[in-house]
Amino acid sequence: MKLVFATNNQNKVKEVQALIPNHIQILSLKDIGCTEDIPETQPTIEGNALQKALYINEKYGYDCFADDTGLEVNSLDGAPGVYSARYAGNHKDANDNMDKLLSELELHQDRNAHFKTVIALHLQDKVYTFTGICNGEITKNKQGDQGFGYDPIFKPEGFNETFAQMPLETKNKIGHRGKAVSQLIEFLNTQ
Ligand code: IMP
Repeated sequence: MKLVFATNNQNKVKEVQALIPNHIQILSLKDIGCTEDIPETQPTIEGNALQKALYINEKYGYDCFADDTGLEVNSLDGAPGVYSARYAGNHKDANDNMDKLLSELELHQDRNAHFKTVIALHLQDKVYTFTGICNGEITKNKQGDQGFGYDPIFKPEGFNETFAQMPLETKNKIGHRGKAVSQLIEFLNTQ
């Protein structure tokens, strides 16, 4: 089975490739000649995942999956959520995003948060979604240099280290994207 993973984020490709069984061949956007930015203009994480998967299918004709992820912080009413990538501005800088979040949380006691990943799959003219959630809390400062995005300030529940301090295998086992990908794989194995 050939499936396009509609992302330009090599970190995501690395995470997902480590989980997908060998009989499923993952094509990257580069493999199919897609070099443009895929629109992500929906007001929800689910909407953006669906928009990306449908865009690739309509324009390039491949079966495809796309993920969209947001970090939802309880005391900020779910922000940055669907705006996680652009939280500190359109330049989408991970350090600036983390700095902004740390400063927004300075006056809050409740630092609970969760990552939410939605994967949308377009397969043989049908569309499916799979959701993975990882609960945890926002640390007071950045720790670790693994991973990407908000990883240095997110400590998953039951762990004393941030995502950026743990090996990829551990993050994949307990993380939002890993959980959503497991559901995707379970589903693909029934097809
Ligand atoms: P998107 O899913 O690529 O749109 O990601 C939205 C935002 O969340 C970006 O700022 C990403 O860097 C961040 N993000 C997505 N997945 C993760 C993750 O696994 N860990 C930390 N940050 C993430």
